Amino acid sequence: MADVLVIGAGLTGSLVALELAQRGAEVELLDPGQGDAATALSYGGVPWWAGASGPMNELMASAPAAWRQLEQRHGPLGWSPCSLRLHWSDADPEPAALAEPAAETDRAVGDPASAAGGSAVLEQTLAGVEALARRHLGADQVERLAPSPAFGGRRMLRLEYGRVDSCRLALTLPLALERAGVRRRRGRCGPLQAGALPARQVVLAAGAGCRALWPALPDRLRVSWAGVLRFEAGPLSREWLSGSASFGPNDILMPLLAQRQALEQRADQLQRPEWIVDAGLAPWGEGLLLGQSSLIRPGSCCGAPPEAPPLELELRQALGRIDPRLGQLAASFVQLPVSFCSSGPPLVGPVAGAPGLWLFAGLSGPFALAPALAVLLAEAISGERRALERLPGASTQPSSSWG
Ligand SMILES: Cc1cc2nc3c(=O)[nH]c(=O)nc-3n(C[C@H](O)[C@H](O)[C@H](O)COP(=O)(O)OP(=O)(O)OC[C@H]3O[C@@H](n4cnc5c(N)ncnc54)[C@H](O)[C@@H]3O)c2cc1C
Repeated sequence: MADVLVIGAGLTGSLVALELAQRGAEVELLDPGQGDAATALSYGGVPWWAGASGPMNELMASAPAAWRQLEQRHGPLGWSPCSLRLHWSDADPEPAALAEPAAETDRAVGDPASAAGGSAVLEQTLAGVEALARRHLGADQVERLAPSPAFGGRRMLRLEYGRVDSCRLALTLPLALERAGVRRRRGRCGPLQAGALPARQVVLAAGAGCRALWPALPDRLRVSWAGVLRFEAGPLSREWLSGSASFGPNDILMPLLAQRQALEQRADQLQRPEWIVDAGLAPWGEGLLLGQSSLIRPGSCCGAPPEAPPLELELRQALGRIDPRLGQLAASFVQLPVSFCSSGPPLVGPVAGAPGLWLFAGLSGPFALAPALAVLLAEAISGERRALERLPGASTQPSSSWG
């Protein structure tokens, strides 16, 4: 029997497995390997300067160094510095969520009546992002760009950023795990029972699958269904990325008024399913990932994937406002469940009432936070008391050390 069983081989499970193996533990990593990890279709953006509350601010700022160190130890994992382009237009409407596709067709996004209110929100958001970024970045790393015809006349803010190419990560992580001596096993774990865990130490790192394994997790651990257009490879990805004015082939594009985070923060108040679309793109191997839809249902269970056509249509329309070619791309719409916390810090630490059971889930900005949190979690599992005290915890109440 392995010293530690890690359940889930996405970003969180793989990174903690690597850290545990590095510390000499025998580690088994269990995952069905059916391609349903959110990690594999992520933009992989690392907003290291964006700040977080309490001690996580420091962990977030250390993300570029943490990824460089991981690559020194395990070989290339897809990390690179890049630029983030936040796009907007003065005519953008105020962000609003949409109801469940099948239930209602009212749409607030794009409604000209709400456009007037949108400009104040735009200005406020723009000033806030610039102020935040300037705390960490030099003057030449935060730049407002002139409107470009290549982006439908939209305006843009360019910011230094970092990213992990999730396509490359999916190819290189299995090799890194193998070299580190982590035993990988294909399979889906069933519900766990206190006192009868399948290993002395077990880490729940199954993303949206965590609650099915241990239902008594805090209510604030929630699931959203993310939808993204996956464009495998083709002339447009190279042509568009290199030919669009001042857009680098490694850059990420996101709306300034991205709506996903606001919807996640409202998750506990939802009376009915709500969804939003954010028009962006990120390079993904030789291809592109385009846009992101997010649908959240009331309650904490994951449920089935939502009906895809209305989400895909809305996403394509939003992309088409940037460049009509993007909206029409022969890309496949894929949906994946993603775990997040509706409030408080992420859930990382021992699970109350189940000795030997640990949770690693609900991270906001996981590509920035997971490398540092994986180190702390591995240290705590190895018995280091100081690391245990620095973890945010897996209980219902945010632990006081994480303010
Ligand atoms: C389109 C998109 C864009 C994103 N952009 C960003 C970004 O720019 N920056 C950022 O930080 N984050 C981003 N995210 C979010 C981020 O990708 C995810 O939050 C993160 O990858 C989740 O990692 P995870 O390890 O917790 O879960 P997952 O990657 O979902 O992995 C969980 C694994 O557990 C397995 N599993 C589930 N149940 C079981 C079981 N019972 N037994 C065994 N295995 C099980 C699953 O099969 C899966 O392989 C984005 C997500 C999407 C979809």
